[in-house]
Amino acid sequence: MIAATGSHDLRQSAADPVVHDRIEALLRVRRRRYTPRCREVIDVLASSGRPLTADEVAQAEDSLSISTVYRTTGVLADLGVLRSVAGVDGVSRFELSEALSSHHHHHLLCRQCGLVLDYELPAALEKALHAAALRITRRAGFTGPAERFDIEGLCPTCTELVANP
Ligand SMILES: [Zn+2]
Ligand SMILES: [Zn+2]
Repeated sequence: MIAATGSHDLRQSAADPVVHDRIEALLRVRRRRYTPRCREVIDVLASSGRPLTADEVAQAEDSLSISTVYRTTGVLADLGVLRSVAGVDGVSRFELSEALSSHHHHHLLCRQCGLVLDYELPAALEKALHAAALRITRRAGFTGPAERFDIEGLCPTCTELVANP
């Protein structure tokens, strides 16, 4: 269970069966088997609501050892199933790729502890930022903007620690 948050209800919503089917098909093309361990990693990530470190994934599911999680997330990230998000602490977090989660979003990063949270922008703002990103990249001779608008700050826990050391 998700020990990091002390909550069990995060496991109630496993990944959508359609997501599992799509990943299985993706792996089959690469001649890889979608193992029960892979499924468990996907379920943990799909139900967490934020990108998780390998440690957090292993803590969330008793049957997953840390070495299994490292290996599995590495393979799934290489195949584009997972997206790796680096926290400012240098530790990678993992989430389902946007193509699989159909959930376009950006990240809030805690500059103290490395926590990464997802956030979404209102559609109109998203569109305006997309247009601005295109203009900026074209002017610089870049192509294919990734449209990432990360915000850095202090998470509630770290804000509390700064206020009451
Ligand atoms: Zn923090
Ligand atoms: Zn995310």
